[in-house]
Amino acid sequence: AAQRLEGKTIVVTGASSGIGRSIAVEFARTAPKNNLKLVVTARREEALRELADQIRSEVGDGVKVLPFKLDVSNPEEVRRFVPSLPEEFRDINILVNNAGLVKGVARAPEIAEEDINIMFSTNVTGLINMTQAVLPIFKARGSEGGSGDIINIGSIAGREPYQGGSIYCATKAAVRSFTDALRKELVDTRIRVIEIDPGQVETEFSVVRFYGDKEKAKAVYAGVTPLTGDDIAEIVVFAATRRENVVLAEALVFPNHQG
Ligand code: NDP
Repeated sequence: AAQRLEGKTIVVTGASSGIGRSIAVEFARTAPKNNLKLVVTARREEALRELADQIRSEVGDGVKVLPFKLDVSNPEEVRRFVPSLPEEFRDINILVNNAGLVKGVARAPEIAEEDINIMFSTNVTGLINMTQAVLPIFKARGSEGGSGDIINIGSIAGREPYQGGSIYCATKAAVRSFTDALRKELVDTRIRVIEIDPGQVETEFSVVRFYGDKEKAKAVYAGVTPLTGDDIAEIVVFAATRRENVVLAEALVFPNHQG
């Protein structure tokens, strides 16, 4: 697996916590001596710096890590992202679109406009804008229409909507449609478009959902054994390290009790 990551540049959005953080660490652990370059992005810079330190202390200087403050819901910041990367990090091979959030649990008529906007601008428009930012790099690579991996983190919520989650579920259904259409549009290239849909994973996700209320967030996992970010990270890295001709187009991953 490490060989297949040789010399690659990987961008992970939402790497400051949870699944995104685990994905960055898992790539570094998988290919510690393969000239990997990791760009870890999110809004919380301090957490990104801690992540970079953690990776350095685990694998040494074999992996170059660049913490990069980036709000994917801000189209202007996304437009500036690739041009403002140091040159050695610009030849991106893998984009993991992981940044995402849910705000509130409310029936559709009561959902605050602000929460609707933040969910769509992060989970959907942010993911699309990031994809558009890297595709020219992918398309310019090689002679077969380009190469590279776009790995989108969707959700079981995009497949099975639930009461109180109409907007979040709609954003994840949008991710799924976008991902499927993009894969079809890129069928004549060596660009792989992959979607990983987690079920319940214990992260800061529910703390954000309940506007920082840790007690409410904890209650979500009462009596269940949720997945960890590492469980999802292993699948993401597995998908990225298949032989070039193998597209793990989608995976639905949930803890045993959730089936
Ligand atoms: P976390 O809250 O732990 O992580 C979310 C990450 O997204 C953080 O790093 C956060 O960083 C980042 N983020 C949020 N908004 C923005 C933004 N505007 N710009 C850039 N980064 C942003 O939750 P998870 O790790 O659980 O979530 C990761 C993904 O997994 C999401 O897409 C989520 O929908 C999906 N998912 C999670 C499930 C779960 O049960 N946990 C289940 C199914 C899917 P910062 O605040 O620093 O910007």
